[in-house]
Amino acid sequence: RTAVVLFTRDLRLRDNPALHAACAAAERVVPLFVLDPRIRSSPNRRRFLAECLADLRESLRARGGDLVVRHGDPVEQAVKVAREVGAFGIGLAADHSAYAAARQRRLAEACDGERLALRLFDGVTVVPPGALKPTGGGDHYRVFTPYWRAWQGVRRREVVGTPRRVTLPDGLTVGRLPAAAVTGGSPDVVPGGESAARERLSAFRRRAGGYAEGHDDLAGDRTSRLSPYLHFGCLSPVSLESTVDSPEFVRQLCWRDFYHQVLAGFPELPRRAYRRGTTERWRYDEAALDAWKEGRTGVSIVDAGMRQLLAEGFMHNRARLVTASYLTKHLELDWREGAAWFARWLLDADVANNWGNWQWVAGTGNDTRPHRRFNPERQARRFDPDGGYRERYLR
Ligand code: FAD
Repeated sequence: RTAVVLFTRDLRLRDNPALHAACAAAERVVPLFVLDPRIRSSPNRRRFLAECLADLRESLRARGGDLVVRHGDPVEQAVKVAREVGAFGIGLAADHSAYAAARQRRLAEACDGERLALRLFDGVTVVPPGALKPTGGGDHYRVFTPYWRAWQGVRRREVVGTPRRVTLPDGLTVGRLPAAAVTGGSPDVVPGGESAARERLSAFRRRAGGYAEGHDDLAGDRTSRLSPYLHFGCLSPVSLESTVDSPEFVRQLCWRDFYHQVLAGFPELPRRAYRRGTTERWRYDEAALDAWKEGRTGVSIVDAGMRQLLAEGFMHNRARLVTASYLTKHLELDWREGAAWFARWLLDADVANNWGNWQWVAGTGNDTRPHRRFNPERQARRFDPDGGYRERYLR
């Protein structure tokens, strides 16, 4: 028996439920990744993805298998490969953006037509969207605190082991990996892949005890910086939750899940105001928008954040809050412009977290105090008291 595992953003061998189930059910497994030209990616994320795939291929080869790479429509390619090897079915991790949901629906139809079994597995979040329904009605939680309370009580799925051997069927062309040399990206980015993720996680675990007090200290840079790895699924959120000994860190993982269930309930999150009854009146000021993008507003904490983004494809959460608030509440420019610029650079940019957080800051989203505004000078005094963060990025 042969099975196909369609990798999407679960680029890991450890605790990968789709891969684990395929290896248990079939003698031969095709780990497949399809480079989809319809997903518009940025140079930073293209490079990161290429490194993730190279690392995944290496790990699979070490277990006797390989990563099969195709270009085109993932549904057509997955079905084509399944037909080619005579597979009985396709497994993949369930994802929750409008695009991923449509892809899953099309895949289900195509599998139906080909008499292929299709299985979706949880693996992108700790608690799957839809697993928790608010007691007061509605299909998802709109406010974080009650979600956090309910989330802690949900039974986690079991963490699954890494397959020891993966056997590829004979005669399959494995296909070329995309090039990791990409122009137009940030100079100082972290390497992609499950191996790099595990190294970063080990280093973070040793200092996780200081996370609760230190995570807002801009110069101290004490957060995990695991978000790009979580975005591409180089780490499993469920096993991460159980390996990091910091309740405050686990609370941040819950924020990630929170926005995934918001997106699943409101797929227009990147385009339309989430908050009911919002009237949006944004200014149009190209010069101010450009100055913000390039870190030339003259407000040092805002400029430092924006330059960190350009240099590293990453920005500290506190700086994201301050820069986003400055764009939407001070300059009164549209959150969609800010979110698009973040998505152009961030390694961790994802539909749920980027647009969910932008709407939260802009007051069009889930914040219960939508008129809150971060005063940049006060934020700088509080979270960068010695100016170390600003010095690092404004040099
Ligand atoms: P840590 O502090 O180590 O937290 C651990 C993990 O928890 C993170 O890796 C992340 O997966 C999750 N997390 C932490 N804070 C949040 C949060 N507020 N919302 C959702 N998840 C969270 N995060 C993204 O992953 N992708 C995005 O595109 C993104 N865009 C953002 C845009 C704005 C305007 C703001 C204010 C926040 C955004 N965030 C986004 C959330 C947060 O800033 C990053 O997750 C965090 O800075 C990543 O750094 P870290 O891994 O060191 O976080």
